[in-house]
Amino acid sequence: IRRIGVMTSGGDSPGMNAAIRAVARSCAYYNIECIGFYRGYQGMIEGDYEELNARSVRNIITRGGTILKSARSKEFMTKEGRQKAADVLKEAQVDAMVLIGGDGTFRGGKALSAEHNIPIIGVPGTIDNDISGTNYTIGYDTALNTVVDAIDKIRDTASSHNRLFFVEVMGRDAGFIALNSGIGAGAEEILIPEEDLGLERLLDSLERSRRSGKTSSIVVVSEGDKIGKNVFELAEYVKKNLPDYDAKVTVLGHIQRGGSPSCFDRVLASRLCVRAVELLLDGKQDLMVGFVNNKVETCTLDEALQSKHEINKDLLRISDILST
Ligand code: ATP
Repeated sequence: IRRIGVMTSGGDSPGMNAAIRAVARSCAYYNIECIGFYRGYQGMIEGDYEELNARSVRNIITRGGTILKSARSKEFMTKEGRQKAADVLKEAQVDAMVLIGGDGTFRGGKALSAEHNIPIIGVPGTIDNDISGTNYTIGYDTALNTVVDAIDKIRDTASSHNRLFFVEVMGRDAGFIALNSGIGAGAEEILIPEEDLGLERLLDSLERSRRSGKTSSIVVVSEGDKIGKNVFELAEYVKKNLPDYDAKVTVLGHIQRGGSPSCFDRVLASRLCVRAVELLLDGKQDLMVGFVNNKVETCTLDEALQSKHEINKDLLRISDILST
């Protein structure tokens, strides 16, 4: 292997730049060339790339987002699109790829590797933490800290006005962000897709917390929660049934994706990507690097895609106990 390509794809997440830097610097360390593809698979198809040397990734470890940009590519979902991408890789003399992204990115990588025999290693980069084969994905820790910081601020205004706040957080079909930020910010209730709390229980719990003398309440709602109402309808429903509450809604939205990555995410990205390059140099392919029990481990891309990263439901019990 003389040339390794790197790209970021799917939703961006803080720490992707630290990952790109680690790939480029590892390549420089091992005396091979590194090519950065812009806008994920779309840039690959269009031949939008640039050589990255050790100096071209200076000062990016602190920055959120991704200098290589990210995109979703419909064209890459087709065989013809992937053929174009493979042709570009051949012309650019790229021998192997490090793909930083989520499950869609890995599915695309698997197709590319199966159809065109291009060695690839996946690196989990998404704020949602919804990939199995790793305890943490790059960006998740930063997003958690952003959410907790935002909820702390909402708590200040909530307690000044005796208000109930519903705070919707990201996570798609997974409740990792909601559950952990909810505990970290001391939320009264946490609604996640993996567990249907039920409307009645929610009302009971809020009523109990009001009677126990709480002056403000925060309910963290995961965007994929399946309680049967969206967060605005939920607030209306609670207002109607618990008229003592002045219920407000905050949807945190894309601030959760931004910001300078936490030290944890920088170290995670660095460790995973050094290993990703070393695996390719060792002739390995179709693997994902992950962080399991404090060690960098690998699993096959199939394993990463087949099973679901299970949420730790004991955290719901912890939350119940602590919101007494
Ligand atoms: P996130 O979890 O942050 O959204 P992701 O990697 O899952 O990240 P997707 O948009 O699902 O984001 O996937 C990124 C890109 O991968 C898609 O735009 C598409 O080009 C490619 N891709 C996804 N699924 C497949 C597939 N089954 N076959 C080929 N390419 C795919």
